[in-house]
Amino acid sequence: MQDARRHLPSVDALLRSAPGVRAAKSLGRPLLKATLAAVLDQARADTERGGEPPSADDILARAAADASRTKSGLTPAINATGVILHTGLGRAPLPEAAARAAARAARSYGDLEVNRTTGARGKRTTRAELLLTALTGAEAAFVVNNCAAALLLTLATLAKGKEVLVSRGELIEIGGEFRIPDIIGASGAKLTEVGTTNRTRLSDYRGALGSKTGAVLKVHPSNYRVVGFTAAVPTKDLGALARKHEVPFLFDIGSGLLHTGHGMPPDEPDVSTALADGADLVTFSGDKLLGGPQAGCIVGRAELIEKLKRHPIARAVRVDKMQVAALEAVLTLHATGHEDDLPVHRMLRETVDSVGKRAHLLAETMGGDLEHAHVHHCESVVGGGASPDTAIASWGVRVSVPDPPAFASRLRMGSPSVFCRVEERSVMLDARTVAPEEIRDLARAVLYALEGDDVNED
Ligand SMILES: *Cc1c(COP(=O)(O)O)cnc(C)c1O
Repeated sequence: MQDARRHLPSVDALLRSAPGVRAAKSLGRPLLKATLAAVLDQARADTERGGEPPSADDILARAAADASRTKSGLTPAINATGVILHTGLGRAPLPEAAARAAARAARSYGDLEVNRTTGARGKRTTRAELLLTALTGAEAAFVVNNCAAALLLTLATLAKGKEVLVSRGELIEIGGEFRIPDIIGASGAKLTEVGTTNRTRLSDYRGALGSKTGAVLKVHPSNYRVVGFTAAVPTKDLGALARKHEVPFLFDIGSGLLHTGHGMPPDEPDVSTALADGADLVTFSGDKLLGGPQAGCIVGRAELIEKLKRHPIARAVRVDKMQVAALEAVLTLHATGHEDDLPVHRMLRETVDSVGKRAHLLAETMGGDLEHAHVHHCESVVGGGASPDTAIASWGVRVSVPDPPAFASRLRMGSPSVFCRVEERSVMLDARTVAPEEIRDLARAVLYALEGDDVNED
């Protein structure tokens, strides 16, 4: 085993070799060095397990491929999964106006923190805050980096060293790293669990409220639902109870739906109703149903928002200028009745017939007589930890292939990169999340991935 490992060249020897020097020239020496080290680590582990040591050329080729993928950066992808808010693919795609605003903010100087009238120092979030209060009827608003940060800041400011009451049915985890108990812990507040997983009553909250209570927190259990023998306290009643005990009532709604209706998922809470029901502060994401960039919005009572803005964490979780610029543009679209310019809203509201036409167009563009590709109905989902129960009727193209996971991998690694849904004997390309201008590229990518693939004959 020692011998096999000694056959492996060193990073330096590989970098000094002629092909190594050539590769370093185009990929950059530091990046190639890093990927060579990783590939060699892997090769060492493999040979220790009895594998054949790879040749120097092999090692270099693998490292160069890894370096090349890293160097080309974040790769645009076509989302044919039918998951509208796909966290892995970046949640909400921005409307053109917001993308332009972000690019402008990135490229040039701007009045980010200057009041143009007086020349005095201003705040970067002032414009977005004005739009948020105008849209929701809240007294005041604040914007930070994301919703997790919004909640962390809120709890650290209002409930540090005190108890935060949360229903046991709302102690959720979203996307692996965001867990309500952990956020509460990190804020310095103490979690007090109320009720049971499936049933929590107003009397449970009443029994837990005391002199040590810092806040009552209601969390929308975005990505799961408790069904069956359940009971939850209406927001209004919880708001009234918190008010009577003079503790802040916080509502983390997550998805950022501003108002109900207009073809939006019916089971998602909206900001305006949460405020009307008595929430003192409402927190939500910018890149879910609001349809904007990553951001954490906080709206509610002015006196509380003022405290939040003065807390040191506010500076640590502030938004950057590209985020604010994009958010302002998105909120302006909401404020001027141009919600249909938001890709997320368009995808949610598009009629099933209209999606069907695009699925047929995709099939035709792929070559309508392909035996193994058929237009089929399917179901899209909201995604991004919203409305797990809401399936949206949709149409797509089902491609039968002998090895669906391998085919999906070829699609992901292709150019353009395509993400699809993997089924038992096929992959599904859901047309709802594919823009009309992506159809040609998608068809080409699928045909390319099909080349050399033995298609299913049945
Ligand atoms: C998604 C979500 C969050 C986290 O939002 P980020 O903007 O991703 O930090 C927090 N709370 C709820 C209820 C959510 O749905």
